[in-house]
Amino acid sequence: MSDAAEISAAERDHVFHSWSAQGSVNPLPIAGGEGCWFWDHDGNRYLDLASQLVNVNLGHQHPRVVAAIRDQAERLCTVAPQFGNETRSTLARLIVERAPGDLDAVFFTNGGTEAVEHAVRMARLHTGRHKVLSAYRSYHGATAGSITLTGDPRRWANEPGVPGVARFFGPHLYRSAFHATTEEEESDRALRHLAEVIQFEGPDTVAAVLLEPVVGTNGVLVPPPGYLAGVRELCDRHGILLISDEVMVGFGRVGEWFAVDAWDVTPDLITFAKGVNSGYVPLGGVVISRRIADTFTDRAYPGGLTYSGHPLACAAGVASIQVFEETDLLRRVRRLGSEVVEPALRELAERHPSVGHVRGRGLFWAVELVRDRDTREPLVPFNASGADAAPMNQLAAAMRANGVWPFVNMNRLHLAPPLVISEEELALGLKALDEALAVTDALVG
Ligand code: PMP
Repeated sequence: MSDAAEISAAERDHVFHSWSAQGSVNPLPIAGGEGCWFWDHDGNRYLDLASQLVNVNLGHQHPRVVAAIRDQAERLCTVAPQFGNETRSTLARLIVERAPGDLDAVFFTNGGTEAVEHAVRMARLHTGRHKVLSAYRSYHGATAGSITLTGDPRRWANEPGVPGVARFFGPHLYRSAFHATTEEEESDRALRHLAEVIQFEGPDTVAAVLLEPVVGTNGVLVPPPGYLAGVRELCDRHGILLISDEVMVGFGRVGEWFAVDAWDVTPDLITFAKGVNSGYVPLGGVVISRRIADTFTDRAYPGGLTYSGHPLACAAGVASIQVFEETDLLRRVRRLGSEVVEPALRELAERHPSVGHVRGRGLFWAVELVRDRDTREPLVPFNASGADAAPMNQLAAAMRANGVWPFVNMNRLHLAPPLVISEEELALGLKALDEALAVTDALVG
């Protein structure tokens, strides 16, 4: 048995894996990584086009971030949240300085799920209302509240979930729920639909609209012009708070500190995690408007976490933000997105009959696979598993055979490389995709 196979077998013995039938897990054991690459125990190297779970924004083992964690570890490894900590307050300041509008305070969590739970709790307490609206095409986390707020099928087995959640369809022109044919129509109709949902739920009962400004695992859906501003307006009209879930798209993924910056919209609360420190140590949080934070000036906020603002995680966050600034990373992401990835994917879409649609922004893109470009029938059925999902798994396997690791979800392949990826590495990844698409092209004739 190879070293990798032995470690994989040991995982199966005692590690209980996320989102998986335990009998069929066969994880690739990763031995190390550097920059955009990781390798297994047999020495096979992969270009990480998924940034693990769209979190390793600075690539693996960034020396500045590793050094910051080491320095902090030597000074103080842990501190309970009721104490002050310079590393934590420095990171909070760096975050609010980059947040839009009057977002002025940070509540730290250990990841994205907890950030969503706390943002919703704050919204409910601030408004005195109980309902939250979220999109069908969304993922917001895996705990009781956040999995109910999730719109995609990961919610089903966890139902009935918690009360007080209603759902709406967001814009998605390629698969429009509103039979729209232009971005403008899609935006208008999606807004009218949301207005109607609010009306039927009872505006005075709705605490918040929770949305991913660019939808992540549900398909990299970039909002049409006017949509986010329209949602902001609707919320204002009814005294509803807007929560922007930027766990996946904040901290550079789409070329902005916060994705809402691209549309000049200021939410009341922003959730973040992942890219804040590239996941070197678990960290997430909620950026809170001054108005909402002030709700809890005399009244206690009823919530907390032992590891809120963990110093090792915050040290990694401070160093990450410094690296972003010093390397002008956001500008780089915007340029690579619009000048390299977008033209390459559009060209590729023209040549490959199995590609129905490509879309994205910055270094966050989806390639949607179809059986038929005219009918747009997805290459695999909605929520396919097992044999039904085989065509997408074969596509991913063909890329892996060429040393490139993509992210696949339903009938989409997502490209979300570390933001530090070089143009040569990007070209390598795109070439592997181009070659692998022969597999799916063959299926659609
Ligand atoms: N919200 C969004 C938009 C996400 O993409 C994720 C994770 N993929 C979460 C929340 C949950 O974050 P975590 O897995 O860190 O708890």
